[in-house]
Amino acid sequence: MRPACALMHTGTVTITFFDHETETLPRERLRALQGSKLVAVLDQTYGTNQFVTAKLDAAGVSPGDIRTVQDLVGLPFTTKAELLAAQDEHTLSTNCTFPETAYTRIHQTSGTTGTPLRVFDTAESWDWWGHCWGFVLAGAGLTPQDRFFVPFSFGPFIGFWAALGGAQRVGALMIPGGGRTSSQRLQLMADLGVTAMACTPTYALRLAEVAREEGFDLSTIPIRLTVHAGEPGASVPATKARIEAAWGAKCHDHAGASEVGAHSFECQVQPGGTHAIDSEFIVEVIDPTTGEPVSTGEEGELVITNLGRIGFPVLRYRTGDIVRVDDSPCPCGRTFTRFAGGVIGRADDMVVVRGVNIYPAAVENLVRGHQAVDEFRVTIVRSREMAAIMIEVECRAGIDGDDTARAVQASFESALGLRPEVASVTRGTLPRFELKAQRFIVE
Ligand SMILES: [Zn+2]
Repeated sequence: MRPACALMHTGTVTITFFDHETETLPRERLRALQGSKLVAVLDQTYGTNQFVTAKLDAAGVSPGDIRTVQDLVGLPFTTKAELLAAQDEHTLSTNCTFPETAYTRIHQTSGTTGTPLRVFDTAESWDWWGHCWGFVLAGAGLTPQDRFFVPFSFGPFIGFWAALGGAQRVGALMIPGGGRTSSQRLQLMADLGVTAMACTPTYALRLAEVAREEGFDLSTIPIRLTVHAGEPGASVPATKARIEAAWGAKCHDHAGASEVGAHSFECQVQPGGTHAIDSEFIVEVIDPTTGEPVSTGEEGELVITNLGRIGFPVLRYRTGDIVRVDDSPCPCGRTFTRFAGGVIGRADDMVVVRGVNIYPAAVENLVRGHQAVDEFRVTIVRSREMAAIMIEVECRAGIDGDDTARAVQASFESALGLRPEVASVTRGTLPRFELKAQRFIVE
């Protein structure tokens, strides 16, 4: 069944929904829906999924103990290390609920940090992925009138693969953009009249940089909205502002993970954060050290249970992402959970420099606030108890790099009380990225 795309007017923005009824359910009905889906997940996986069965048995939990979403806290957490071990113990993974013949897709994580984790989908669970992306794309305002460009190399990384299913459900015209250089992609976008695009925030800025270098006029592309995943950039205010200015389009954040699904998105109101898709996931925010829930409004680690991927489920998966719930109502009318500022950072990415807790997103926001900076790289040097930050900036042609470096340093001093070493490097020195950027190096 294809959910209806409902429209609602709020001020000057026409709000589009993927499934208006579900997205605006009263919270207690959403909780009841989550509870019934959770019971169904356990019914279908306990006894058939070796990984889930062993975890519940080891924790002394019987599926019958879990009747409502409140009972979820009785289940053990799942970690990435456990899923990696599960793929070493089986020809696929012990977390596969069904025999291999039931599966139609394999993907693996990008592998930027260690061994790639393989994930498996049945036709049903892949449909569910597309369904989740429907919430993401309709939430950003995508409609059947849009021409939706996806400049992604369609390889084993799950990335934007499921965005195609989402675009199909919304009814937009999807244009695959793999196997092309940035210049060729820009030309294709102009030729085909692209109105929407999904890519990493880094690549949106890279495409704009290539356009500037080559004298390509971005206004020849009638783009009006972009959706970004893979990095927190679209919720980093300075990065968002830069993408919106470069493209003359509204920029929307989205977060997902190979092992979890496409779980949260930014609505058209752009309230400075994202919504979790509460009908398809149960989200919790915990203290990463104690595992206990934090109070609403406090930062903590995002823990997710997915409700539609029976063939490869995760129960209370520790994402490592840091979020903060904002329980004030969103002007868009959705009752889905809100994360203020989207994913704020990764638990393991935070560094303490002279007593100041610093996430890469905060550093990015400060550096991107300087329009002269095209690209940057941050090196954190740890020696004994102390840590120091060194920043390299690469500026636009015709800009005095030393002036810019001093300005960047001054903004760190006023915002964080730190005086990092900032150096201007010649153009072309720093690497450019088409997918996830690696701008933060810890030595
Ligand atoms: Zn909203």
